[in-house]
Amino acid sequence: MASFHQLALLLLLALAWAWPAAAGTLSKADIERRFQRPLHVGEKLREIPAWPLTSELTPDAGPVAYVFESIDLAPIPGFEGTPINLLVAIDKDGRFLEVEVLHQHEPVFLGGLGPVPLMDFVRQYKDKSLKQEITVASTYGNTRANAGGNRVVLDGVAKATASVRIVNQTALSAALAVARARLGFAPASDLPPARIRETAFTTMDYPSLQSRGYVQTLRLSNADIEKLFAGSDGAGVDEEALRDPNGLFLEIHVAYLNPPLVGRNLLGEASFARLRDYLRDNQPAFWIATRGRYGLVDEGFVPGTVPPRLAVQQNGLPVELRDANRDYANQPTLSGANAALILVAPALAGLDPGQPMEFRLTVARSKGQILPTVTRREVSLRFAPSAELFDYPPRPLPEWLRAWSDRWPDLAMIGAALVLLTAVMLRPRSTCREPRRLLAFRLGFLAFTLLFIGWHAQGQLSIVQVTGAIKSLVAGAGLKSFLYDPVSLLLITFTAISLVVWGRGAFCGWLCPYGALQEFVGLVARKLRVPQLRLPARAARLLACSRYVVLAALAVSAALMPAAAERMVEVEPFKTAITVGFVREWPYVLWAGGLLLAGAFLYKFFCRYLCPLGAALTIGGRLRRWDWLPRLPACGQPCRKCEIVCQYDAIRRDGAIDYDECHQCLDCVGLYHDERRCGPQLLQARKGRVIGIKPIPAHSIN
Ligand code: SF4
Ligand code: SF4
Repeated sequence: MASFHQLALLLLLALAWAWPAAAGTLSKADIERRFQRPLHVGEKLREIPAWPLTSELTPDAGPVAYVFESIDLAPIPGFEGTPINLLVAIDKDGRFLEVEVLHQHEPVFLGGLGPVPLMDFVRQYKDKSLKQEITVASTYGNTRANAGGNRVVLDGVAKATASVRIVNQTALSAALAVARARLGFAPASDLPPARIRETAFTTMDYPSLQSRGYVQTLRLSNADIEKLFAGSDGAGVDEEALRDPNGLFLEIHVAYLNPPLVGRNLLGEASFARLRDYLRDNQPAFWIATRGRYGLVDEGFVPGTVPPRLAVQQNGLPVELRDANRDYANQPTLSGANAALILVAPALAGLDPGQPMEFRLTVARSKGQILPTVTRREVSLRFAPSAELFDYPPRPLPEWLRAWSDRWPDLAMIGAALVLLTAVMLRPRSTCREPRRLLAFRLGFLAFTLLFIGWHAQGQLSIVQVTGAIKSLVAGAGLKSFLYDPVSLLLITFTAISLVVWGRGAFCGWLCPYGALQEFVGLVARKLRVPQLRLPARAARLLACSRYVVLAALAVSAALMPAAAERMVEVEPFKTAITVGFVREWPYVLWAGGLLLAGAFLYKFFCRYLCPLGAALTIGGRLRRWDWLPRLPACGQPCRKCEIVCQYDAIRRDGAIDYDECHQCLDCVGLYHDERRCGPQLLQARKGRVIGIKPIPAHSIN
């Protein structure tokens, strides 16, 4: 039997390695079929995998939109381990024109719900903008009520919340990559920009604006500048600086104009109103003036352009400020000013006016008459905007963290249940000794597993998650996609640990919703006196191999015929019975119902003979470090009560436990701890001699 395990494991790994690489496949002709006249599709760009679209209606405007496949830019693995591929089109303002699902392997959208809800979901992107915060409503708490302001909340898809969060992350990440490369969107920043606070207007004069920090100033004397050039060719060439070291060389005055408290006071009401009309999308505007011997611009400056001497940076990244060419820039009374401009940042540059920025002015000196040597130095004003002018929005949670915060009540409930289960498994005596108490605990827990974990929280694990995790790891994508489904991640983590401690039974016996459903069916069948088949031990063991065959067949077909594998995973009735609660096409319902019916005659038929996840967990259960089910020397010979009690045929004739088949129902543990039920020979053995746990090694199937 060990060879069966190893073969299945090898095939599982082969599946992961054989998976095709993630890359876009569309050609220019494919794009042209989707975007027709008056649009024209250009050649795919070299610097970023996107097709530019131009329009006959605005022939001189350059690209009006960009089209791209998300898999080239944001290959985020879905639950099955393969990235979802979307065709995305955005216009030059960062507005979504279209999002189309090209390829997806999400189990819930392949079967179960089918692809239509996903198509409906991506349709919601049309006309939404990358300048908005686009999130997905959770069916578990976070609702559309959170929308508003700059926030858009898309309708989620019930039973597929985690998958549509991955879709949202994929669409936004890919679109932002293109917007940053081609549309001048700011590089990635964690923080949304500050918003101007609505404050009551009060009239202020220039010194008051300065004292409040609304106008900030840098003053440099001749001596300061001389120091800058010390040791260079520019040192000692400015005679006036040497003659009058304390004299003013340059004074820079900077103000952020958009808040009325600043702009209106500096420019006057009428000019401020005109400026506001001029600004698009609340572009940040700054008033900058200089006085002294040196100025912001020289006589060669062309109005309406970027002043060549000025460079602006925020967080180390350059922002281009352009002269707005407003004649009222000189309006503030700054005696002796040699230049005054209103400079405007592009709307999409991502400049956050609420955060500090640096204004750098280049000062040049030349030495020599013929072929002079020019030396340049920079002076810098760190402009720290006054915090009282702004509202700073809270840092938005990443999409995966939102999933966690939305689902904390579910996680808390399931976490508490796992703690309880752990406590009972570690100290089973008090729960198990009384058959009624064990039955009540077991049925209560399984009801929780079925109703809460399965039907409510959608926490049914599946073989697709096992193969998906392997594929993601092999592709180097990590397991980030699991972060979007916190309930599954919690259960996977607990199951992984439990494999080492208890073997596969902790999950199969307690935490699998479909397993719990079968258990209830078996219970009802026994109550209804449905005849219970019990195969001879050898036959049961032989038949149990079939679940490894199913697992191997799945692995091979996934590696060689992925499309067929997507249909073959339907051997798991989980999607039908748990994910969509039997609301599905009749062949699937018939299959899931038929398996339950089989389980009514042959206890947990699917678990024991067909389940590929059970097979994978059995292989994982080989990591188990302890034989934790207690045995006595007389187990198997002469007493065989436990063997009869075990409905999974997991106790051999010699009394050893076959942990591969054990679902850790605790029936035999209860028997062991109950002197009234444990065989009389054992009772005698306990009273007479050594009473203890017989460390019989776990049975291995050979
Ligand atoms: S064998 Fe499969 S269906 Fe049964 S409990 Fe385990 S995982 Fe669930
Ligand atoms: S009765 Fe069987 S399935 Fe239950 S714990 Fe004992 S060996 Fe495992």
